[in-house]
Amino acid sequence: MLKTFKQATLGTLKNSGVFKLVQSSGWRRRRLLILAYHGISLADEHLWDGSQFMSPEVFGGRLDLLRKNGCTVLPLADALARLYADDLPERSVAITFDDGTYDFYTKAYPLLKEFDYPATLYLTTFYSQINRPVFNVVCSYLLWKAREKVLDLKFVTGQDARINLSTDEARAWVMTEILRFADERKLPADEKDSLAASLAERLSVDYGELREKRILHLMQPGEVKELAADGVDIQLHTHRHRTPMNRELFLREIEDNRNKIHEMTGKSPSHFCYPSGVWDRAFLPWLEEAGIESATTCEFGLASRSSNPFLLPRLIDVSALSPIEFESWLTGISMALPRRSTPR
Ligand SMILES: [Zn+2]
Repeated sequence: MLKTFKQATLGTLKNSGVFKLVQSSGWRRRRLLILAYHGISLADEHLWDGSQFMSPEVFGGRLDLLRKNGCTVLPLADALARLYADDLPERSVAITFDDGTYDFYTKAYPLLKEFDYPATLYLTTFYSQINRPVFNVVCSYLLWKAREKVLDLKFVTGQDARINLSTDEARAWVMTEILRFADERKLPADEKDSLAASLAERLSVDYGELREKRILHLMQPGEVKELAADGVDIQLHTHRHRTPMNRELFLREIEDNRNKIHEMTGKSPSHFCYPSGVWDRAFLPWLEEAGIESATTCEFGLASRSSNPFLLPRLIDVSALSPIEFESWLTGISMALPRRSTPR
């Protein structure tokens, strides 16, 4: 209901010229829209999780709208320097991708290149070295693939429970049990992968095919190196995709991440993105200590000169956002409209 009402309102605002007025305003010119993406589907990932994955068609449509609306897509570091110097061109946008899944290499990057748009990729490095699907993510995907089945947990975690996987709640419960099982045993990555493989077998999902397509895998160092050489800006997202509340552990995450990225690209990254959008005031001095220049969150908004450079808002673009809602973000109008709660 809210969505229909909002679409209609946006349609009226667009047709009456308000979009044009706001997008050409001084208010918008002093602001930077940082777009955030995760994955562009290799297969059906966007049907499983539309907040993390988008089809290549929808993503291509977004890039087309950037062009049609006359947006200036800037490299992130350049955009931030110009934001704080009050020197942004009209309708400034920066494009960021989180995590660095393999689909960036085969799906997102070719589209970005077609439009000649620069992008920053916040790379988490642990899984980049082991060419296996990310454990917790792939388990969730497998359970969704088998949502018409019943899982006997005895063969996975040893528990005496048969679960009908048809509801989100049931699958979430199974996920909790699998993660607890793996945590309690402190399973190393290869054993976690064996566990995911045996779950797939139980659910009659073809794990070999998933591995072959590299669904939910991260890019390997050689691929990252190639993209960096071609101009993709590779930046920090922690080594193990986590932000410990302990200073030493937090700094180690950044250090490990930075070293791995340096090994792959020959460059030393200094821009950071909070994994899963989780941030705390305590992190800010630690980021400064680590020589970080900026940090982006998953909070909705356009960045302005008054934004804390370590708490920069972004638009987490999701499959459910309609083209007109996306355009309303490009103009800046959405800052003033109600919206649904933030995805991850
Ligand atoms: Zn992430």
